This record gives sequence, structure tokens and C-alpha cells, in this order.
Amino acid sequence: MSREQQAVARARKAFETGRSKCLEHRIRQLKNLQRLFIEKQSVISDAVKKDLNKSEVGTQLYETLGLEGEINLAIKKLKEWAAPRPVEKNLLTISDTVYIQPEPLGVVLIIGAWNYPWAVTIQPLIGAIAAGNAAVIKPSEVCVHTAKVMEELLPIYIDKELYPVVTGGVSETQELLRQKFDHIFYTGNSMVGKVIMEAAAKHLTPVTLELGGKSPCYIDKNCDISIACRRVTWGKYTNCGQTCIAPDYILCEPSIQDQVIEEVKKSIKEFYTDNPKTCPDYGRVINQRHFKRVMNMLEDSTIAVGGDNDESDCYIAPTVLRDVKPEAKVMQEEIFGPLLPILSVSGLDEAIKFINKGEKPLALYVFSSDDKVIKRMKEETSSGGLLANDCLVHYSVSSLPFGGVGNSGMGCYHGKFSFDQLSHLRGCLIKQLKMEGVNSMRYPPHTAKKLGWARFFILQNVDLGWIGRMAFLAVLAVVAAVALQNYLL
Ligand code: NAD
Repeated sequence: MSREQQAVARARKAFETGRSKCLEHRIRQLKNLQRLFIEKQSVISDAVKKDLNKSEVGTQLYETLGLEGEINLAIKKLKEWAAPRPVEKNLLTISDTVYIQPEPLGVVLIIGAWNYPWAVTIQPLIGAIAAGNAAVIKPSEVCVHTAKVMEELLPIYIDKELYPVVTGGVSETQELLRQKFDHIFYTGNSMVGKVIMEAAAKHLTPVTLELGGKSPCYIDKNCDISIACRRVTWGKYTNCGQTCIAPDYILCEPSIQDQVIEEVKKSIKEFYTDNPKTCPDYGRVINQRHFKRVMNMLEDSTIAVGGDNDESDCYIAPTVLRDVKPEAKVMQEEIFGPLLPILSVSGLDEAIKFINKGEKPLALYVFSSDDKVIKRMKEETSSGGLLANDCLVHYSVSSLPFGGVGNSGMGCYHGKFSFDQLSHLRGCLIKQLKMEGVNSMRYPPHTAKKLGWARFFILQNVDLGWIGRMAFLAVLAVVAAVALQNYLL
């Protein structure tokens, strides 16, 4: 048996003991995970610093703080989320107990990406634990140091049988994918997303795919361009542009391009000083392969700001590109690096047309002081999330579903959405062995009279308010039961 097979078998066996279903067990595990982030913050930060040159504050701000918030929320709300959810009834089921019972799916495979290695790996794990599942955790091998820390620390804090960590690269992930899971939660690029879905199809395993793509950003001339550009600069260059929801490119009218460039330049200086290379808050491209990939994109575009680089340090300065053509290299795939192309459009109509020609993005940004512009952008496009007059922050709102649509992914998570995504929402109807008369309308022999009653019971549509409706339905049910007993049987 391979190491991967063993991990899955161990998780399955542990799941079958039933302990992951117990609410107290789930809460204990979540509290242990919370403790890990309190007690091992510096170990976590050191590894992320080595992998991505993130500062300790940066790691807390963009990775662990959000996780602590999600854990707190899950602990606070777990009882409510896991409880039966009563649903509306119809006349035929008025005396039954009808509800949705969330239940664990089983063993979940979590495949993480490298850009926010803790956030994108542990956030689904919080959902998996809360929903009562076992989970096999596969951190990205690209963040060498973080993967090692996860492999060492997680088994110390949480149930290592239920939640084993498997490290490794493509071949280890592929070996994992040959095993049968009850759900696969993948974060990464769309090409591998297809590989994951194909492997999942062999076992009819459902998937959540948290993918990426080019997230557009339209800046309307009718807005405070200085504030807009400061927010875009933050959204773009945080983590050296390696954020799945980073604004990929700017669309604006040619008349404001120079001002946009100047304002972005000002904000770059404000955030990262005159020399971002020595600024502790400016990150690095993850490795030389990605460095070369990003540098290649510069080839056929005009640099307006930045462009300095150092391969030995995987450093690329915050860079702005002007008058970029849709055919330019930088526009052919998600940039995932610190380049910000600006493309000219004649106005909102053309911007919407341009966005709709591409794949549905993970995030769509619009900056405008005009509500009508925001409304049109919302109504005439589609994307995983839509943000007006800011960047990235929708990620931090637990009550919003986070996920893509079309090429940017499927399924969603955060807060209760994570719990639901990794639960089976089981429809339950509990009936008493009484009132058999009501059922006669569905039993053969079928007659026109019985059909008439069925139509009445199923299609009735009276709006008397909640209390009135319940009382009316109760009376009707009794009357109908008596009528059916007397006239139908
Ligand atoms: P990556 O290289 O770390 O790959 C992700 C995972 O897939 C890794 O665990 C890796 O082992 C596995 N993998 C890679 N190739 C594989 C293959 N051929 N078969 C099976 N498994 C394989 O990360 P990446 O893909 O470079 O991540 C960047 C992408 O992820 C970007 O497109 C970004 O937008 C997206 N992303 C999306 C989100 C989101 O929440 N939607 C978050 C972060 C990143």
C-alpha cells in the first residue's frame, strides 16, 4: 500500500468509528486548531517568510487572522448549523415532521495551492471538521517550508487519524486522486482543475473547484481616481500580485490613463517606498519558473512604472503597463504577478463587451461614483463575486459565498457556506402511521375524483400569513381527512 493509500484508509477507518460526527469532538478539534495559530504563529510566519517573503504582520493579516475568525464563527454557530432545519410543508404533509438534516459526507480530500498556503488549505479544513467529515490534507509542494510545517504541526494539534497530512507533488496528488473520496476540494489553476474533475468523475465524487483567471477592473472617469487607484494598487501588489482575486488588468477611457498611472505610481511609493526591493511589506514571486513566466509577459507591452527585476531574488518591482492591446502576451492568461496592464475602452459599454468576451472571472471590480454604472456592470456581466469601489475585501466577509462561476470554479465556501458545501443536506420526512384516509387519493385504483382531491391538496395556494396559513391548513387537513375517509375509501 502506498503512503497515500494508507492515509486515505486511515482516515476512512477513523471516520467509520463515528467520532467525527460528535459535535463536542468537532468543537474540540476546532479549538485545537485555534490553539495552533496562537501558539505557533512565529513558526508559521517564518516558513511563509521563507516561501513568499511575507512579513510576520502580513502573514497574520492575510492568512491566519481570517482563519481564526472562521474558527471562532464555526465554534459559535456549529450547533445551529448542524441542527435540523424545518422547511415549509404542503397540505399533504401538514401533520408530518419535514426538515433538512445536514450530515457529514465522509472523507474529503483538500488540495491546497501555494499563494496563501495556510488560508486556502486550512479554510476548507475548518468546513470539513465543522461538518463532521474526515479530511486528507494535501498542501502545495510549491511552498516547501510551509508544507513541512503543516505536516509537522497539524498532527500535534488535531486528530491525526481523521485529518492526515500528505505532502508531495504532482505524482503524490495523482496517487491520492486514484482513491475514492466523498468530496474533493481543490484550489489552484483551471487546467489542473479539469484533471481533478476527471479523476473525481471515475468515482462520481463531487468537487469544489476554487480556480482563478483574469479578474477585470473597470475605472469609470466619474470617480475619485486617487482613492480608486490606491485601493487597486493594494489589491494588485499584495503578495506580489499572487492573489487569485487580484485585479488582473484595468479598463478605462484613454483620457484618464495618465492620471491612473500617476496615482498608482504614487500609491506604490506610499506603500512600498522608492525601493520596494528592500521594503519588508513587498513580497517575492514564488520561484524562478513563475519569475520567468511573468517576465515573459512583459515582452510586447510598454512599461509605464517599474519593470526592475532580479532573477536571483525572484524580485519583480510593482509594474504598470500602458496602452496594452488585447492581443498582448500579458492579456492571454492570468498574470499572477506584479504587472498591471491598462487597456483603453471608449466607456462602460465597451468595457462590458470586453469582459463578456472572456471567461467568467472569479472577481469583477468596478470603480465609480455613479450607482447606475455599478448597477449596469452587475446586471450585464457575470463573475464569482462583484465588488464596487474596493478590492479583495469580499473575501473577508464570512456571510458571502466565496467561489467562482464557469471557468473560475464551482461551489463556494466561507462561514456557513463551507459547512453546507461539505455536508449532505438530507431531506427528511417523518410521518405517523395514522390518517391513512388522506393517502387514498394516491393509491390505485386511480379515479378522476381522487385526481381532483390531489390537485386541490398539491396546488392549493392561499396566502393568509404564517399563523393564518397554519390554522387554515390544519382545519383543511382534518376536513379533508374526514371527507376522504367517508367518501373515497
Ligand atoms: P499549485 O501549483 O500549488 O497547485 C495546486 C495543487 O494542485 C497542488 O497541491 C499541486 O500538488 C496540485 N497539482 C498540480 N499539478 C497537478 C496535476 N497535474 N495533477 C494533480 N495535481 C496537481 O498552485 P497553482 O495552480 O499554481 O495556483 C495558482 C492558481 O490558483 C491561480 O490560478 C489562482 O488564481 C488559483 N487560486 C484560486 C484560489 C481561489 O480561492 N479561487 C485561491 C488561490 C489560488
